[in-house]
Amino acid sequence: MPEGDTVFRQAAVLHGALAGRELLTSDFRVPAYATVDLSGRAVERVIARGKHLLIEFGDVTVQSHLKMEGTWHVYARDSHGGRVQWRRPAHTARCVLRTAQHEAVGFSLGELHVLTPAEEREKLAHLGPDPLGPDWDADEAARRLLASPRRSIGVALLDQRNLAGVGNVFRSEICFLAGVLPSRPVADVPDLARVIRLSEKLLQVNRLRSRRCTTGDPAAGPPYWVYGRGSRPCMRCGTRLSRGELGEAELRRAAVADRVIYFCPSCQS
Ligand SMILES: [Zn+2]
Repeated sequence: MPEGDTVFRQAAVLHGALAGRELLTSDFRVPAYATVDLSGRAVERVIARGKHLLIEFGDVTVQSHLKMEGTWHVYARDSHGGRVQWRRPAHTARCVLRTAQHEAVGFSLGELHVLTPAEEREKLAHLGPDPLGPDWDADEAARRLLASPRRSIGVALLDQRNLAGVGNVFRSEICFLAGVLPSRPVADVPDLARVIRLSEKLLQVNRLRSRRCTTGDPAAGPPYWVYGRGSRPCMRCGTRLSRGELGEAELRRAAVADRVIYFCPSCQS
């Protein structure tokens, strides 16, 4: 599932291919932007902000959110102008940006907008500090988390207004590594600063990995301590892991996969 690390990595790949390059063509395959034409414009930079991917042209930004299935691919174009073979079905392409050297294709994007700088600021204004961003501020993250002290930490970590970029996989892993039950209210977390440090660390170490891993060694065993391992033994204590759903109305409206959280009833309290 794409989280801040995935978006950071994809933005870096897109930046490497597109920054400073002029688009020969653009193709938006969503009704709202079907007539937008960015050909002749040069990409200034591609950055991630939380789970949003931003392709900036200066006076306009292509903003996308990968949600569950989305991904961006970059393909090298051959010098003969031949058709590039995509690794995802063509009918799932939502945006195609071509330069002389590359073709960048956004597949199954959960969200795609073409925004002015003012619209971009408004769209992202709610986001909290981003552990992978230049403006990362751990104290501000703590302040935001504590603004709703009775909320469970498992729900609060998923709220992008607190920390931008943490998703469903990381919140389970962060709570496990911090030894805190996801249902524990934020105000009752013994060491909230540690939870925030773990969030930053997990996103940082995974931002350039092609396969996400929270256990320290991507080559050895399962990549996660608890996520997706419900009813299997805890790798630390052997207790059978649990999975649960946190009960906030806003999460009940979310996709099922977004509600499920995993934990060890013995390592976490
Ligand atoms: Zn355990």
